[in-house]
Amino acid sequence: MRKARALCLLSGGLDSQLAVCVLREQGVETHGIVFESPFFDSKAGLKAASKLGIPLHVEDFTGDIMELLRHPPHGFGSCMNPCIDCHARMLKRAGQLLKKLQMDFLATGEVLDERPMSQNRASLETVAHESGYGELVLRPLSARLLPETRPEREGLVDRQKLLDLRGRSRKPQMELARKYGLADYPTPAGGCLLTDPGFSRRLKDLLTHDADPDPVEIALLRIGRHFRLGERTKLVLGRNRAENEIIEQKAGNRALLKVESAPGPSAVICGEVSDDVIRKAAEACVRYSDAPKGQKARVRVRKDGSRMIIEVEDAKDTVLKPI
Ligand code: SF4
Repeated sequence: MRKARALCLLSGGLDSQLAVCVLREQGVETHGIVFESPFFDSKAGLKAASKLGIPLHVEDFTGDIMELLRHPPHGFGSCMNPCIDCHARMLKRAGQLLKKLQMDFLATGEVLDERPMSQNRASLETVAHESGYGELVLRPLSARLLPETRPEREGLVDRQKLLDLRGRSRKPQMELARKYGLADYPTPAGGCLLTDPGFSRRLKDLLTHDADPDPVEIALLRIGRHFRLGERTKLVLGRNRAENEIIEQKAGNRALLKVESAPGPSAVICGEVSDDVIRKAAEACVRYSDAPKGQKARVRVRKDGSRMIIEVEDAKDTVLKPI
């Protein structure tokens, strides 16, 4: 048996780390690959690769995930997470690197039936098939319950030394973690903003009104209070000093507002701006400031390099609906 080489999707979670350990135990040389986008990062993957002592390939996934968010062939999960298509695309992207990196096959930490929708037998088959690299996708943690793959058939890995994990219990994984000396691994859920209901609601609103949003507007979805002021206009208000600073940094040429006569949020208007929009935005700023209610407050507005002060009362809750 010659020494095989595997490229393993390494999110950094426990399952993906275990997949690496199981393969390495039988002498497979393993590299990791991790993807970055505005909705998930490579931090956990980088940490895991460093602990495991394996090379890690970091790939930008922004174009892929934006395309899938607009048209997910297999739809979304419970939030804006197109998991089946996202996973298939990641495997496709990884598969395209196999030749260049002189790797023999792909591996993932997926466990059969661990997640009811995205890791049942049909979903695993769909993901592998749609990636275009189906025969080369090995799931070391559940391989003995799944059809034989090419690396197993060709003797690059010993199927008998692969595992037969199944289901939602994390106990077997935790025992394996002890066996392989893995500690301080992230919790299974988390790490992808597309599974967060609040974030998903704001993202859906953004994509409904703008199919190709500016990266700054996507970045702003992580913070603040969001209000839609018109079909092509929204307002983002900071909720604390840190968010106010982010808004001020990211505003660029967009209209930036700040209540002058009392402590209050910084706010940025994204999209089309008119005098009416600025007035509504200023009223919203006053509503979330410490200025006395029902009285006029001074709001500083910076727009296109010029500055002005307007005086408005606070917006009423009935007209101010957060996204
Ligand atoms: S949780 Fe996020 S990163 Fe993971 S497959 Fe789903 S959409 Fe992609």
